[in-house]
Amino acid sequence: MDVPSYDIFVIGGGINGCGIARDAVGRGYSVCLAEMNDLASGTSSTSTKLIHGGLRYLEYYEFRLVREALMEREVLWSLAPHIIHPMRFVLPYAKGLRPAWLIRLGLFLYDHIGGRKLLPATRTLDMRRDPAGKPLKPGFTTAFEYSDGWVNDARLVVLNARDAADRGAAVHVRTKVVSARREGDAWLVTMEDRRSGVQETVRARLIVNAAGPWVDHVLTDTLGRNDAHHVRLVQGSHIVVKKKFDDPRAYFFQNRDGRIIFAIPYEDDFTLIGTTDQDYPGDPHNVVISEGEIDYLCAAASEYFVEPVRRADIVWTYSGVRPLFDDGASKAQAATRDYVLKDEPVPGAPAINVFGGKITTYRRLAESMLEKIEHHLGKKGEPWTASKPLPGGEFPATGFEQELARLTAAFPFLKPEHARRLLRLYGTRVFIMLGDASSYSDLGSRFGADLFEAEVRYLVAHEWAASADDILWRRTKLGLRFSRDEAASLDAYLAEISAVAVAT
Ligand SMILES: Cc1cc2nc3c(=O)[nH]c(=O)nc-3n(C[C@H](O)[C@H](O)[C@H](O)COP(=O)(O)OP(=O)(O)OC[C@H]3O[C@@H](n4cnc5c(N)ncnc54)[C@H](O)[C@@H]3O)c2cc1C
Repeated sequence: MDVPSYDIFVIGGGINGCGIARDAVGRGYSVCLAEMNDLASGTSSTSTKLIHGGLRYLEYYEFRLVREALMEREVLWSLAPHIIHPMRFVLPYAKGLRPAWLIRLGLFLYDHIGGRKLLPATRTLDMRRDPAGKPLKPGFTTAFEYSDGWVNDARLVVLNARDAADRGAAVHVRTKVVSARREGDAWLVTMEDRRSGVQETVRARLIVNAAGPWVDHVLTDTLGRNDAHHVRLVQGSHIVVKKKFDDPRAYFFQNRDGRIIFAIPYEDDFTLIGTTDQDYPGDPHNVVISEGEIDYLCAAASEYFVEPVRRADIVWTYSGVRPLFDDGASKAQAATRDYVLKDEPVPGAPAINVFGGKITTYRRLAESMLEKIEHHLGKKGEPWTASKPLPGGEFPATGFEQELARLTAAFPFLKPEHARRLLRLYGTRVFIMLGDASSYSDLGSRFGADLFEAEVRYLVAHEWAASADDILWRRTKLGLRFSRDEAASLDAYLAEISAVAVAT
């Protein structure tokens, strides 16, 4: 059969699939990736959005994971200083919960085992004087302030996919892998375009199963295994409320049940509160926040804020499923967050499955996967992703404000908040998006908030966006500022331009 042939076929366009595809193609392997929905439409757009070591995981002795994740903070920041930035976290000491010496010990390790160079160290706060104490109840008199990072998770995925494609990978979005069978020493992988229903078969020497919460489904339904039960699905939900505080720092709150939640400044006007942690028995497609989780998050945050968090304050919620490796832990929050890469034991063409992992460690996970791939396919290039910026990230980690000044000098008509938003999302690529525009009318019609045709066209042409949801909830978070009607007219516009593209 005369079919396109690749070294590696990656199933899944979440952070792990896209990160592996990018690393592999950059080393010289030929790569094809298929994502059944939009890029990052699975777990990778529903995280808490932290590039963090995971202070809490120290309690579970996950030193390897925490150290690796801590080391990644500054590496990732330097690769994508537009979508990643440092954030300070305020952890109030609460009587009757973890003792101060234990928190100090955890933060001492945090400061010293993770290759910290630019991020500031931990300090102790007197909350009676520090502005961070202002929105909290007066009983919280001491807190610890430490560093971690913030990431736009969905964009991290898209930028990895973009770079993989720029380096030669075939990236198929809205394309489901429906079957894969071994033929000699290769796989024949059949994928289906979910919009046209057209199927295509390609040959690959190795499959990477990075299907996240669907990893066991792919094993059983697609790769023909009938005994795959490796993944433990753990739901996590967040609520978004109107801004609870003005401080740029985030809060780390301990709960009486031993769990923790974050309250994080979000999209300028909001506060993000989460997450929950409970086993999830259902279909990952249908995951939504439960009434119980809403109550839990409101109550947990209200233990700390003077102004309680009420249901009526909630403007948006989202929910995701962690595809954790099932290590037999009794409680969901104790299940390992570390990743496990498992070769399929069946002889013939190899398949390697990805379980668990964090957004923070995706690049290191990809490097570990490449070691396995080299073992099967032979070595090509050296590890390279620690030093090559992601698209738009070609400026120094601490250079965001200078880059913003360059942008506003080149496009003086942009309103300051608009310029900042565009630079945060697209980095240096914003210059491509804006082209030779010299006024707002050059950006085309406005769909709502500060979304203009130029941005929409850029997202369609360069970032595989095809629907209002792709644009309003993953490439941007303008969904928080759009009305239903505005979203509907954006959808109508997208349908119109894709019809024109098909016709021409
Ligand atoms: C509530 C919550 C909070 C979190 N917070 C953080 C955090 O703050 N920091 C951090 O570092 N990590 C965090 N994580 C963990 C992190 O989000 C996940 O580990 C990571 O996103 C998993 O990525 P993935 O690529 O493995 O899976 P996914 O993102 O789910 O990607 C898998 C993809 O495979 C696709 N797929 C499945 N089957 C097929 C098929 N047959 N054909 C084609 N495509 C297919 C799916 O559509 C999906 O898009 C959090 C997770 C959750 C749930």
